[in-house]
Amino acid sequence: MRFILIFLLSTSLLTACQSKVETSKTVEMYNTSGDMVGTAQLLESPDGVQVKLKLEGLTPGFHGLAVHEYAKCEAPDFKSAGNHLDPEGKEHGLMHPKGPHLGDLPNIEADAGGLVDEELLLPAATLKDGKMSLLRGEGTSLIVMELQDDGVSQPSGNAGARLICGEIKSGKEQEATESPTDPTEFNEKQE
Ligand SMILES: [Zn+2]
Repeated sequence: MRFILIFLLSTSLLTACQSKVETSKTVEMYNTSGDMVGTAQLLESPDGVQVKLKLEGLTPGFHGLAVHEYAKCEAPDFKSAGNHLDPEGKEHGLMHPKGPHLGDLPNIEADAGGLVDEELLLPAATLKDGKMSLLRGEGTSLIVMELQDDGVSQPSGNAGARLICGEIKSGKEQEATESPTDPTEFNEKQE
């Protein structure tokens, strides 16, 4: 009997822990005018974090893309997002011998209509805890650049201005609707 109780207890603990691990995340992408122009779906995989990116309204052609170090997309220049995510002190660029940054991604290509629909990979990143997590601290952000990233120039590939930004945050806010942590909301429910 005691054995069964312990078994049940440990199973429920395990389930509770697993439910907190995030394996996917949808990031809303905004331009400098504050309009939502697409989404990035992040998915934890054995090969790293997959990024499924859908955007509209870009100028046709190649654009740099990278994960930046802070989850703060403040228009008009998105400088608030900081530099490229680089927990290991590497150089910028997928073609740099001392690179790349953890957050460096290949260029994306917008079609003649300004649309992007691409699947990319961040091979060294994770959505789980740890040094290489995209959800470390307050989170990070995903930024699309005006121009093509040349893959070697420091600090960010000579890719022009930051055009589109999306905040990558842990799910705490999204879950807030189900289990309110805001004390005012809680009080309203009590009355
Ligand atoms: Zn970089």
